[in-house]
Amino acid sequence: MELWQEQLQDFVHTLERLKRHINVTEQEEQAITEMPTRWGTTPYFAGLMDRDDPNCPIRRQVVPSIQEQQNKYGIPNYLIWKENRNTDEVRPDSIARQYTDRVAFTVTDVCANYCRHCFRKELVVDQELKLRFDVEEGLDWIREHPEVRDVLITGGDPFLLSDDKLDYLIRKLREMPHLQMIRFGTRTPIVLPHRITNGLRKVLSGRHDIPIWINTQCNHPREITDLTAQGIYDLLTCGVNVGNQAVLLKGINDDVETFRELHQKLLTVRIRPYYVFYCEPAPGIDHFRTPVEKGAELIRDAIRGHTTGLAQPMYVIATRIGKIPLMPDYYIQAKNEKEYTLRNYQGKTTPWPTISE
Ligand SMILES: *Cc1c(COP(=O)(O)O)cnc(C)c1O
Ligand code: SF4
Repeated sequence: MELWQEQLQDFVHTLERLKRHINVTEQEEQAITEMPTRWGTTPYFAGLMDRDDPNCPIRRQVVPSIQEQQNKYGIPNYLIWKENRNTDEVRPDSIARQYTDRVAFTVTDVCANYCRHCFRKELVVDQELKLRFDVEEGLDWIREHPEVRDVLITGGDPFLLSDDKLDYLIRKLREMPHLQMIRFGTRTPIVLPHRITNGLRKVLSGRHDIPIWINTQCNHPREITDLTAQGIYDLLTCGVNVGNQAVLLKGINDDVETFRELHQKLLTVRIRPYYVFYCEPAPGIDHFRTPVEKGAELIRDAIRGHTTGLAQPMYVIATRIGKIPLMPDYYIQAKNEKEYTLRNYQGKTTPWPTISE
């Protein structure tokens, strides 16, 4: 058995196992025993939790909370609505579509960490929504849609599939002449870096005409370790770029210092910040949500001008009509026929000539 499989065999998904890593509070214990929810993480990721602090940023992403029973803002059947599964276009369950040229292809509902803030909570965590993950059906659909040029393989976590299954998927997609790229969304570099084995590297390696891109999810600087750094390096050296899609989470990464440190630390392990997502209105995650403006303010106050430009993600809301960027709108302070007044991160202004069309 490989190390990553041992991590999954020893999955921390019982109170007894959790108690080896942290001093479980009464409220945490109540949530675990009373709520019918799938939860758990790898012993590796559990080892990064603070033993005594229930507000530990990693712990809050792992341990169920009774706050998940509150739902003032969440939209019922969120995933059906958000992923346009109730429209006229006939698609397999595994294909979510918001754009003409690219689709999300869900291949599993299993994860290496059941994130409490997951926007697919109804499917992945609470398992109230049942979908068929028929890979052949999905491949057939993509084969019949030549307008699709980019397939984003997602889950659950697709890297929990075996090397053979991933190899098969990639080979079948690369046989389709209309495809230009394959993307994977996987949290394994963060919650299970052991997954990046030589076997997996063989599957991902090589200079192909249809490249592979990966996006992972890291929400707090404490999630980044030497094992993360090694895993990312191992992916890059097989020709695969790694980006990050963080989720803006109240009390976890919504302050200036943490937000900046997260994005700087990602670059130190060669992960390029891609998106910061607003925490979506899926049911039961109200307690993680900030006002919409928060992400734009953080980019203004913590990133743009304050640190390396490469550290800047795009702040977006993922809606049912696609992702909508919500970047700070303070840059153009004024405009007349002659000039713009442009403002920088410090509030300083400079004129810039207005060009008429
Ligand atoms: C997020 C998403 C994509 C990819 O969006 P990009 O902005 O290209 O990264 C594609 N399809 C669906 C359904 C998505 O949710
Ligand atoms: S790894 Fe992704 S799909 Fe799985 S629980 Fe976390 S956010 Fe949801």
